[in-house]
Amino acid sequence: TQFKDLKLSSKLLKTLADKGYSTPTDIQREAIPLILEGRDIQGIAQTGSGKTGAFSIPMIENLSRSKQVVKAKRARALILTPTRELANQINGQVEIYSKGMNLSSAVIFGGDGPLNQVRKLATGVDLLIATPGRLLDFLQRGHIKLDELETFVLDEADRMLDMGFIKDIEKIIERLPKKRQTLFFSATMPKDISKLASTILTRPKIIEV
Ligand code: AMP
Repeated sequence: TQFKDLKLSSKLLKTLADKGYSTPTDIQREAIPLILEGRDIQGIAQTGSGKTGAFSIPMIENLSRSKQVVKAKRARALILTPTRELANQINGQVEIYSKGMNLSSAVIFGGDGPLNQVRKLATGVDLLIATPGRLLDFLQRGHIKLDELETFVLDEADRMLDMGFIKDIEKIIERLPKKRQTLFFSATMPKDISKLASTILTRPKIIEV
């Protein structure tokens, strides 16, 4: 299977070709068609497997397809990840893959002053990449509303739990629309992680690479 065999727009295929990517990794080959169909995913995958592309490429495709019909100013996709470094890396990949597609993204993390992040949000973004603490703070202050969210990604779920983010994650999920697509990724799937997965996923396809 090549990227061109997956049902992606010519714009996205050109971006991938320009980047020198012709063949999807295992997780990309399995996840991309399912995510394009709107399915929930429970993925067991490590960093380095091409996991970021596996969720961001089809999400960007779905967002750009619906962009013509929805004129939403609020985020329609949220990627939750445990650290600021990961958030910035994911945002870098999202910016590359969404080039020329009229989609905007913002990255929200703790540590820095919130002002620049708040300003960016005020311009209206399609896609948010965030760490849990700062996102919850912004939700509670009313800087972000997630009532128009279509797709939610929980990245590195096992690390999130190790870092003590479970309460924050539960509070964030309470604020998401019930009807949404959820993509859940973890390097390991011990009992507490699969329990969390089963409470937030609807008839997920399980992918293990
Ligand atoms: P990730 O597991 O998402 O952190 O990706 C690991 C690295 O592989 C990143 O530097 C990506 O840019 C790169 N990568 C992702 N997908 C592909 C692909 N299909 N072909 C070649 N490299 C890729």
